[in-house]
Amino acid sequence: MTDVVIMGGGPAGLTLACSLAQAGIRHVVLERGHHPRPRVGESLLPSALRVFDEIGFLPMLDEAGFPRSPGVAYHPLDDDEPVVVDYDEFGGDPGVQGAPRGYSYHADRARLDMLLMKYAESEGARIVQGAAVREVEFDGDGAATGVRADVGTESITIPARIVVDATGHQTLLGRQLGLRTRDPELDQIGLHAWFEGVYRGGRPLSERAQIFFLPIHRGWAWLSPINEHITSVGLVTNRSSFQAWDAGIDRYFRACVGSGSALARALEGARPLKDLRAEPSMNYGLEQICGDGWLAVGDAARFVDPVFSSGVGVAVASARRATEVIQAALAGGRTDAAALRPYQDQTFEIAAVWRDFVRLYYRVMPGFTVLLRSPRYRTSLLRILQGDIDPELDGGLVGEMASLVGGL
Ligand SMILES: Cc1cc2nc3c(=O)[nH]c(=O)nc-3n(C[C@H](O)[C@H](O)[C@H](O)COP(=O)(O)OP(=O)(O)OC[C@H]3O[C@@H](n4cnc5c(N)ncnc54)[C@H](O)[C@@H]3O)c2cc1C
Repeated sequence: MTDVVIMGGGPAGLTLACSLAQAGIRHVVLERGHHPRPRVGESLLPSALRVFDEIGFLPMLDEAGFPRSPGVAYHPLDDDEPVVVDYDEFGGDPGVQGAPRGYSYHADRARLDMLLMKYAESEGARIVQGAAVREVEFDGDGAATGVRADVGTESITIPARIVVDATGHQTLLGRQLGLRTRDPELDQIGLHAWFEGVYRGGRPLSERAQIFFLPIHRGWAWLSPINEHITSVGLVTNRSSFQAWDAGIDRYFRACVGSGSALARALEGARPLKDLRAEPSMNYGLEQICGDGWLAVGDAARFVDPVFSSGVGVAVASARRATEVIQAALAGGRTDAAALRPYQDQTFEIAAVWRDFVRLYYRVMPGFTVLLRSPRYRTSLLRILQGDIDPELDGGLVGEMASLVGGL
């Protein structure tokens, strides 16, 4: 029997595997796909680099040649100058939790995940690709005992003391146990593709992730450079606005792009390199993210709207917290829900701040740039935007800003 079986080899599962290997804990990752496999193409927050630094992956990432991301630019609705956030504004602030660099990277996730897998393997991680988990097995008392997976034409059972769900939006355990819930207040959908010929503006604007507010209920769009020629372009809107349009994703996408003049200019001569993809479920969570013999990390635990590019940073940070709790649980000889519970408590606290921050953003949008410009809130907002949440400090700040606008 292995100690830990990890379902899913994305950033969360691979970071966990790497950390467990470094701690000498027996484990195996089962990934249904084969790296490199396609992903959105995303901007990382500095907090993701902190975790990559901790596991020793940062030098490899630095060598990989991904475009640097010096920060974010928010384009107001009125076509005014964009409001810019620079990650290096945090430098030297003792309140900021050690982001190793004053910049981050835009990552072609297919490549990033493959590099992370190779690095994890070089640290001793055991990863089996082409292994699709069908279900988690439980004993008569409701404790997870292992997984059943299809590997090639074989169906095999892998017993383990702890099962970790890192299956991303699949939320395998959340669905199997009926624990998955949607956030009814933030019913957002996303559409995205890679484009060539996007006008990103001059430097340094062109190097940043760019967010465009749109005159559509809870509508905004992003541009993220993937390389010199390719740009990841996407938009997020309220599901009801998309459904009301009732004209298919291509026409809806074009209409949204046309509704914002700065965005329309950026995409005037652009050509999609892939079909638009729809992400139907942008805000969900599990009622509990640990139980007897199991826990969930990364997107398998919860997903909050991608407006602040927090996904990968949050996923890999959750994997690090999970490592600590798993280590302590195995050392103490107890893998029941109570032993794993500290992971859930910490993760829920952090997730609540992100959820409220995202709600605040949608509550004040497009006036978010007013908050960013305000001397009272700018530094604190920048703190949150680099990705490492301090629940007490940041939760208080988000609450204060929310009370200014009459609550969330
Ligand atoms: C539109 C959009 C834009 C985004 N933009 C950003 C951004 O700019 N910056 C950012 O940081 N984040 C962004 N994100 C979020 C980011 O993609 C996720 O948060 C991140 O991928 C989470 O990593 P993960 O390891 O938890 O899940 P994933 O990366 O989804 O990995 C899960 C893995 O599990 C595997 N799997 C699934 N089911 C099974 C099974 N049954 N058996 C075995 N394996 C299985 C999958 O093949 C996959 O490899 C965005 C997300 C969306 C939808």
